[in-house]
Amino acid sequence: MNYNIDKNGFYGDFGGAFIPEMLHQNINELKKNYKKITSDKKFQSEFTKLLHDYVGRPTPLYFAERLSEKYKTKIYLKREDLCHTGAHKINNTIGQILLAKELGKTRIIAETGAGQHGVATATVCALMGLKCVIYMGEVDIVRQSPNVARMKMLGAEVKPAKSGSKTLKDATNEAIRDWINNPMDTHYIIGSVVGPHPYPDMVARFQSVISKEVKEQLFEFEKTKNPDYVIACVGGGSNAAGIYYEYLNNKKVKIIAVEAAGFGVNSGKSAATSQLGKEGIIHGSKTLLMQTNDGQITEPYSISAGLDYPGVGPMHAHLFKSERAEFISITDDEAMTAGLELSQLEGIIPAIETAHAFAIFEYKKFKPEEILVFNLSGRGDKDLDTFIKYFKL
Ligand SMILES: *Cc1c(COP(=O)(O)O)cnc(C)c1O
Repeated sequence: MNYNIDKNGFYGDFGGAFIPEMLHQNINELKKNYKKITSDKKFQSEFTKLLHDYVGRPTPLYFAERLSEKYKTKIYLKREDLCHTGAHKINNTIGQILLAKELGKTRIIAETGAGQHGVATATVCALMGLKCVIYMGEVDIVRQSPNVARMKMLGAEVKPAKSGSKTLKDATNEAIRDWINNPMDTHYIIGSVVGPHPYPDMVARFQSVISKEVKEQLFEFEKTKNPDYVIACVGGGSNAAGIYYEYLNNKKVKIIAVEAAGFGVNSGKSAATSQLGKEGIIHGSKTLLMQTNDGQITEPYSISAGLDYPGVGPMHAHLFKSERAEFISITDDEAMTAGLELSQLEGIIPAIETAHAFAIFEYKKFKPEEILVFNLSGRGDKDLDTFIKYFKL
């Protein structure tokens, strides 16, 4: 079995481009050009230089000694929290802004939930001097106000999405509507491995720098490029795709995907898509999707806004169905406890999204000689208010 995308834009049964006719031109333009442009020498050298000088790559691979001692196994952390703007999202926005410039686009739109992707997009638009419009649910604008201020400070216009639950899914709908109305001058920067083909593959390729670095860095420590496990939290699945990418077809490396169970998988307030989802289409892609029996999308819930999405990227739907990856669901409480533990054992305050990945030790035991690499997708500064309220700090 192949775990990369096929020539029709599918991962097994999942993916494709299920889009309204009005978007055909934009999507075809991308499909025709993305590999050619991004594999060009000049593009690669500009991308690599910005990742190095501006984002701060390579990010360290850090051996977490006290955490390893506690769980009696070898734990390494890939420090994406040290990227400029505080998470892995900027790897993708740097790549896409360079692509947009190559395509002659002058205006950028994006959707955002917690605001992390909005900030990463506003940042690269400032860097390149392009006009930037960010769609964000009205509810999220209220609960993530520091990130709204950041986007405005960076020169972006933040437009509220007022339909539906007024969160990420609705912001995505608004961004798609904008793109339909502005097909010529606008590029839509999607923030995860979701959306119509070629977005999932394009975003995965930009994020694959994470596992490319891991291979070299792990060799320095362990004289092997292959850990026993790569582990990441999955919202749409871009940080996970980044750390899995180089290992997808290497079965010696096991893959663990960690989803948000919210109050519990069967509580009615959850975002554990692999457990609750059925095959369906969301935002242009066939994937696993939380829905009612007659196909209405179910509202997801997680304490972390970045995992609060009713679908999952088609790569991950395929990894789940083919059993290439093991999926584990973690509740709000388990994630918060794991976040506190990482802070106090290693001096690293993770994003709440990331904290979910560190709660797997309740469910899975590892051998002392096994090597685990966690993608530490982002830092917890943005979540301090939530931590303060939860732990009454
Ligand atoms: C956005 C975000 C996520 C979830 O998005 P993916 O596309 O699944 O990676 C996870 N961690 C952090 C820190 C984020 O900002």
